[in-house]
Amino acid sequence: NFHHLFSPLTVNGLELKNRILMPAFHMKYADHGYATDRLKEFYYERAKGGAAMILVGGMRIDDLGGDIGLDSLSDDSFIEGYQELVKGIHQRGAKVGAQLYHAGRYMRSSSMPDHLPGLSASSTFSGFSRETSREMSVEDIRLTQQKWAEAAVRAKKAGFDAVEIIACTGYLICQFLSEITNKRTDEYGGSLENRCRFGQEVVQAVRRAVGPDYPVFMRITGNDFMPGGAGFAETVAFAKAVEEAGVDLLNVTGGWHETQIPQITGDVPPGTYTYLAHQIKQAVKIPVSASNRINDPYVAEEVLALGKSDMVSMARALLADPQWPNKVREGRLCEIRKCMGCNQGCLANSFFDKPGECLVNGKAGREYLFRDKPAPEKVKKILVVGGGPGGAEAAVNLAQRGHQVTLWEKSDRIGGQLPLVAAPSGKRDFMELIGYYESMLAKSGVEVVCNKEADAAEAAAGGFDVVITATGVIPKTMPLPNDDGSVPAYTAHQILAKEVIPGKNVVIIGGGTVGCETAHVLAEAGTLTPEQYHFLCIHHAENREFLDDLMNHSLRNISIVEILPKIGKGFDPGTAWPLLQGLDRMGVKKYPNTKVLSVKDKVVTVERTAKDGAVSVIEIPCDIIILAVGAVPNDKLYRELEGKVPELYNLGDSSGIGKVLTAVRDAVDLAYSI
Ligand code: SF4
Repeated sequence: NFHHLFSPLTVNGLELKNRILMPAFHMKYADHGYATDRLKEFYYERAKGGAAMILVGGMRIDDLGGDIGLDSLSDDSFIEGYQELVKGIHQRGAKVGAQLYHAGRYMRSSSMPDHLPGLSASSTFSGFSRETSREMSVEDIRLTQQKWAEAAVRAKKAGFDAVEIIACTGYLICQFLSEITNKRTDEYGGSLENRCRFGQEVVQAVRRAVGPDYPVFMRITGNDFMPGGAGFAETVAFAKAVEEAGVDLLNVTGGWHETQIPQITGDVPPGTYTYLAHQIKQAVKIPVSASNRINDPYVAEEVLALGKSDMVSMARALLADPQWPNKVREGRLCEIRKCMGCNQGCLANSFFDKPGECLVNGKAGREYLFRDKPAPEKVKKILVVGGGPGGAEAAVNLAQRGHQVTLWEKSDRIGGQLPLVAAPSGKRDFMELIGYYESMLAKSGVEVVCNKEADAAEAAAGGFDVVITATGVIPKTMPLPNDDGSVPAYTAHQILAKEVIPGKNVVIIGGGTVGCETAHVLAEAGTLTPEQYHFLCIHHAENREFLDDLMNHSLRNISIVEILPKIGKGFDPGTAWPLLQGLDRMGVKKYPNTKVLSVKDKVVTVERTAKDGAVSVIEIPCDIIILAVGAVPNDKLYRELEGKVPELYNLGDSSGIGKVLTAVRDAVDLAYSI
């Protein structure tokens, strides 16, 4: 049972029904800061799902600290809309707080009202905003602290149960704490005590404004993992300082946006960073919440049972499945749609200022579109061909809408290409999506027929009102120039499916996502496991070069040859860098702007054009060539069925090469249109 997870907690008089906290997630559903229908429905769904408390935000406290797309409490005009949101969340059984946000030097001048650089403790260059900040005067400091306090009062007026001050991830308060960004010589710089002062005064200002009985949380960084930044000693001192200043709960995460150690990608083992919360918890008396990659109920329960923290913060887990808490409480673990740590719909969208989505949840952030959808006028008999994520998602949604659904899958298990997607160590969680679909197909009453090769005549004669083809892709191959046949060539799909185990000298042709991930899978064999590597990284953050050099070279010689100027094209921001960093660490050689000249006597000869135009010829010893040169839609069945069934749809990759995210989203939309 999950006794610890579902035990109540009281924080400064605020009664929480369980230990699940949904931290603020900058989803960009607001309209110029005002609460929208989209924003409300998103949170209402999470409130219904059983979390004890939701933190909305980050909410702008003024125009200098946050982008216009964020939620806002920067003046009184915002209060009314959020009052309604708060009321709706309360009606659905959850408590709600407002995260009050100031990004400091992470603000880009293009987002600032006056197009001046972002404010910070000192004038320093940020690798995240790619700009140099403006040092705050003492007057700026006072004004910003006052804005924080005023926004807190507005939050209280709007009915929020608490406020949370953001002091994590490299935002403004971190910039005062860290010596990397704080070069001041006044009372806000220099000694640790002085560097804690700004954040401490923000808390004091907020506390004075809201009174002693109103819960004030703070989201802090347990260790910024920035060489020369705020490590354990600084963050513990800061935690004690803000506790003394009046904080009631510390919500602990790790890292900055510039940190070069992965914090939330799929290769971070679940629960890895809960030790940060534990370190803080040992130093303070107030409750502490642990964060980062807590997506599994057993991990969450264990964190609490071991006393590492008093709450667990889960943002992406609840984006992926708002019903996560209810499902855990009711023992419906197989029905949990787990967050994959892929960052493809949430973090990647935020980099492009797009509203957040989720790869595994096609309704996430779009709940308002489905709220008033009428039930189908007629129950239809529907055939879905292909049990990949698109086909399975469509089948489940159609069956849940009341249709009579049959799913044909040609292999012995549903999942389509998911086992290949899950091959890299950072994407292993994708295998769990197969288990989820198996459970949900069974629960929703879909008739699943595996080992069933679809035949157009049989499908057309089956009496189906609707046929949906979700038949995936066919990997492309290509002839190699001047090839003497001395080296066998396979597709990346064959390698990821483990049809062949390559030897030592590997040449991968094609440096897009599939080529890079295949290189990663092959390079990892015989090196440290992701768990070992992360352990070493976080405990030896200052000594990464030594570690990488000593411990993590691949046993294979792997070269990626790409004709385009860039290796890694097609990755989402936020997911590419750990993978590309891993390739470098394991010694994978990358040849962009390079074409194959010949394959002879187990040597691949390539011609590379450098950035300055210089051309060089390189000979690469090779036992196996792997082709990662794309794929084409497998739409044969769809074309054969055209005009032969009453309604026909082509879904996912068989209609055009896309991503799991688009296949899942399109599947939901299609299911709700039938
Ligand atoms: Fe998790 Fe990926 Fe969904 Fe983000 S997009 S919540 S990382 S599954």
